Amino acid sequence: MAEIKTERLDGYRRLIEIARDLASTLDLDMLLQRIVRAAAEVSNAEAASILLYDNLTRQLNFQVATNLDEPTMRGVIVPLEGSVAGWIVLNRKSVRITNAQNDPRFFGHVDRITGRPTQSLIGVPLITKSKVVGVLESLNKEKGKFTEGDESMLSVLGAQAAVAIENARLFQQSDLISEFVHELRTPLASLSTATYLLLRPEMSREQQEQIINNIHSETLRLNSMASSFLDLARLESGRVQFRKTRFSLPDLLFECKDVMNSKADEEKVQVRIDASEGLPACEADRDKLKQVILNLLSNAIKYNRPDGSVLMSASAAETNICITIEDTGLGIPEDAMPHLFEKFYRVRESEGKGDGTGLGLSICKQIVQGHGGRMEVKSTLGIGTSFSVLLPRSGRTQPRN
Ligand code: ADP
Repeated sequence: MAEIKTERLDGYRRLIEIARDLASTLDLDMLLQRIVRAAAEVSNAEAASILLYDNLTRQLNFQVATNLDEPTMRGVIVPLEGSVAGWIVLNRKSVRITNAQNDPRFFGHVDRITGRPTQSLIGVPLITKSKVVGVLESLNKEKGKFTEGDESMLSVLGAQAAVAIENARLFQQSDLISEFVHELRTPLASLSTATYLLLRPEMSREQQEQIINNIHSETLRLNSMASSFLDLARLESGRVQFRKTRFSLPDLLFECKDVMNSKADEEKVQVRIDASEGLPACEADRDKLKQVILNLLSNAIKYNRPDGSVLMSASAAETNICITIEDTGLGIPEDAMPHLFEKFYRVRESEGKGDGTGLGLSICKQIVQGHGGRMEVKSTLGIGTSFSVLLPRSGRTQPRN
């Protein structure tokens, strides 16, 4: 008895340490990783996971798990009805189950993905300000059965985790919003100057037309900034689900070329495609990958020279599929290279070139990383630039440690 009490006391001590650690973590991804690791530890479980609840779709999305890699998890949706996690959200109560396979609420789909059957589990709701934000689950007790003590430890951890998740989300939003508001200032200032000038009586008809054209292009830019910003905010919050299918990559490249044909003609840039024979089918979210390729192609045309060209190619190596978009354009100065994927970053030399927002490459990077892939860039000033997207060949990668 005394031994059990000491063990419990050690457990609570550990919980206090974990609470401190969670409270000081504002990076949402890192925070969720820490919570699942702590959950497995305090309940002596084989694995643990977090599902976040999406109020709009009324579904639960797998966010992190100690036994699943990120790209696989991102596509897994758990319904509110017919799942233990859904029951926890609807009833706002924790659950302790000794034989999951016999429980009518159990949703077996995730077991088929991990390849490991769930025997026992504890699930607790993550609740902040009376809102359920998700569910924390511990799966398969290492030895014996989950106890009431395990359940209460996990409930305490769940309460701390919910507050930490809410804080990290708020911090992320306020960071992004303050950057966005800062970026709005320049186009708003130029709109306000333009309207002031339009009202001046000495403006000629020609000058007025030029000002109206400027207003038009600035409002278009504000518009695309707003939608890119929303895209990026959703991607960064981890709420975007990637719906993977298998499809032909060359077909996708030709489709992207078609979309950009008139823009390429306007800029007198020739676009070619070289997709190697026998390329395996690509497994990814087709619409999201199309967004990445269109973005890179649009940049390759926009930052090119008249009579320049763009080569889009795709090839497969043992572990990766590689898509490269190479242009004969302005190139990127060496000191700008480390900043290219930062939000709102634009190379000063290219600022005069059209309607950029500086968000395109950040969005591409988020999408590619969400697939477990990476982006590479090489550039020589005055000669050209090549951006590559490398995606893992099979949809699954190793879980993060
Ligand atoms: P933007 O909307 O400004 O194009 P991106 O995030 O797509 O935003 O790109 C960031 C910056 O990187 C661009 O403003 C441009 O200066 C530079 N850049 C991107 N692609 C190329 C390219 N192919 N050649 C030269 N510069 C590029």
